[in-house]
Amino acid sequence: MPNQLNGVDIVSSLPSKLPRAILFDLDDTIIEFHALAAPAWDAAISGIKDELQGFSPIQVRDAIDRVSVTWWADPERHRLGRLDLARTRRQNVSTALRELGLIDDDLVDRIVKDFEQRRFAGLRLFPGALKTLEYFHEAGVRLGLVTNGDGAGQRAKIERFDLARFFDCIVIEGEFGVGKPDERVFKYALSQLGVDTGDAWMVGDNPSWEITPAQRIGLQGIWVDVHGTGLSAHDGHHPDRIIRQISELLDTLPPKSQVGST
Ligand SMILES: [Mg+2]
Repeated sequence: MPNQLNGVDIVSSLPSKLPRAILFDLDDTIIEFHALAAPAWDAAISGIKDELQGFSPIQVRDAIDRVSVTWWADPERHRLGRLDLARTRRQNVSTALRELGLIDDDLVDRIVKDFEQRRFAGLRLFPGALKTLEYFHEAGVRLGLVTNGDGAGQRAKIERFDLARFFDCIVIEGEFGVGKPDERVFKYALSQLGVDTGDAWMVGDNPSWEITPAQRIGLQGIWVDVHGTGLSAHDGHHPDRIIRQISELLDTLPPKSQVGST
């Protein structure tokens, strides 16, 4: 567990008491999300491999990856695209197939639908995620869920894993109108919880969206290094703590029975 940052013991620098509030990101913080995309695309394309007019599934997958990477690299396109993921995916798959000379809207629809079904079916909670949320919830820490993306898609994930019971506030980009890294998201969530920024943690896997902007307004930023890349891949970000999964938050906390007894 990378508990050191630039030679400083991060764990020992943590506040000794629980914060009054914690804001959690959803995708790749509580739920495993991005890692599921590759196998879902492969399976969806393999399912129609006899209709690819001589192209191999790998060629089609490469074309979709190329178009998708270019699309999502632009921050404004990313913002608009994630608010209607189904439309964005259809558009990118259509562009990719057209680049190969495959013009077949029905094929596009079937690939995207199969991908989405497989990806949603494959979603899973990270080990210990429920136990972690339960600990803080029962300890009386006010919890907020702050997640980017469209309302229906994010609500479906929340419902599937029955997560709403842990949270006193849920802020979804598609419902709220703006998303992370806009600091209004963090401020609004904390105002709903009735907690000052200096009494709160933000826990998430995206340093640009969740750590640095939250720290800027006074929260402690706890980075979930879900891919194990370390900070070298994220210049300019200085999380207060680095963990690989949220269950590690429990490692330095008192047993639930002792919370509030001091
Ligand atoms: Mg995330």
